Amino acid sequence: MSAQHEIVSKVLDSLKTKVSDFNFKNWFKNLQWDYDPQGKVVVSVPSRFVRDWLMDHYLELIKFEFYRITDQEHKVQFKIDRKAQKTLDLFNQTAEAATTKPGETCDIPESKSPQNETTPTKVTEPAKPTANEALQRYEEFVTQMGFNPKYNFETYVVGNSNQLVHAACQAVARQPARSYNPLFIYGGVGLGKTHLLNAIGLEVLKQYRNHRIIYVTGEKFTNEVISAIRYGKAYELRKKYRENCDMLLIDDIQFIAGKERTMEEFFHTFNALYEARKQIVLTSDKMPKDIPNLEERLISRFGWGLMADIQSPDFETRMAILRKKAEEDGIDMPNDVCEYIAENVSNNVRDLEGSLVRVSAFASLSQKPITFELAREILKNIIEDVKPKLSVEGIQSRVAEYYNLKISDLKSKRRHKNLAVPRQIAMYLCKAHLECSFPELGQKFGGKDHTTVMHACQKIRKYIDANATITSEIKEIEKGLGLAH
Ligand code: ADP
Ligand code: MG
Repeated sequence: MSAQHEIVSKVLDSLKTKVSDFNFKNWFKNLQWDYDPQGKVVVSVPSRFVRDWLMDHYLELIKFEFYRITDQEHKVQFKIDRKAQKTLDLFNQTAEAATTKPGETCDIPESKSPQNETTPTKVTEPAKPTANEALQRYEEFVTQMGFNPKYNFETYVVGNSNQLVHAACQAVARQPARSYNPLFIYGGVGLGKTHLLNAIGLEVLKQYRNHRIIYVTGEKFTNEVISAIRYGKAYELRKKYRENCDMLLIDDIQFIAGKERTMEEFFHTFNALYEARKQIVLTSDKMPKDIPNLEERLISRFGWGLMADIQSPDFETRMAILRKKAEEDGIDMPNDVCEYIAENVSNNVRDLEGSLVRVSAFASLSQKPITFELAREILKNIIEDVKPKLSVEGIQSRVAEYYNLKISDLKSKRRHKNLAVPRQIAMYLCKAHLECSFPELGQKFGGKDHTTVMHACQKIRKYIDANATITSEIKEIEKGLGLAH
């Protein structure tokens, strides 16, 4: 190998440690580098698109590496040579502009300042890919990295239940490893953890394109550890996670619990990245201390940064999510249908989306307009399934919440009207909607006599229709319990 090539090899070796494996493979491997010791490098690339990409994303880095290794400023030029190689698996198919002249070279502007952008280069400006093509390539690019391009901050609806976690994710994405490290996101299934983790990665890529982000699930990480052990590739695994990584995003970290070798590997990875001030973001379905079989030392580390939970969205947020999803998918969803879904599907966002898709698919297949009746018919079974089972406790808690009381107030013996009426309403609702005997209910309302419950039910029955306020309050509580519309 000639001296020139040695310099190029050194530069490539160094680049390899500075960009992600994925990017290196796709952008640098097999490019042809002609090196002139006078300080000029000509890189042959297969298409205009590749040239533009390299110029936009890596030019400064490449120049810097040549400078670092040779102590000399280099002029870097790109030459489009279609025959050069077929490296770029990812982007080059659509990127070849029809007007590309093979063999063109192009001087690289020194910087991306506006003046320089208009400075004429040796060749005419290449036709930029159309917005659609660019978007498609971007989506392919991020998909290859494991991201879902749709799970970004723009598509995430913020409400009371997720405000804090959303703000934390944005802070981390804007300034990785500066604000909270690690960021630990936890919450029940279908509440948007994966969405937010994705959004962080996508946002970081937008701003720091050379950031080496590893985005994996706890399961994939576990599988990688197992296969590294099996095939004697522990060194490669460590290099990948501990050295060649600027940001580690692990979804569903609870999966590694109870898997000793994986926890061990993760522990050292965590320490290495943390010490190197690299951002770590983890999601889990539970708080660290509630994850069974998770090592103490990991539990404690997970709490070093910020732990933020996502709660089930409230009604307004559910409405906002439905509206946004309907709009994104171009579905014309009447307000009463949105309300019906938001009222009845309250546990998680995934079910909310599922309901929307189901209604719109059914309406479009049967060529009927989306109406409240249609939605109710289509969602009948689903809503039965997702609706939490009614219980005495559920009714008590709903009634207490409605009247701003404590459940203990409903069970107490105090007779003040402000307590007695809600208590009687709660008893009445239990009797009306549950298969409970009077003595059983008496028991559940603080050990009262069954005659007290009977009396309460009779009294409320009399009120219904006679007393408009109480009737409407009962209706609202029933609505909150998913019993009426
Ligand atoms: P988790 O990882 O917590 O189980 P996901 O992130 O997979 O949940 O979310 C389930 C679905 O709900 C996804 O399609 C996601 O886009 C959507 N989703 C969740 N929360 C929101 C939100 N606040 N705004 C918009 N979409 C959301
Ligand atoms: Mg998830």
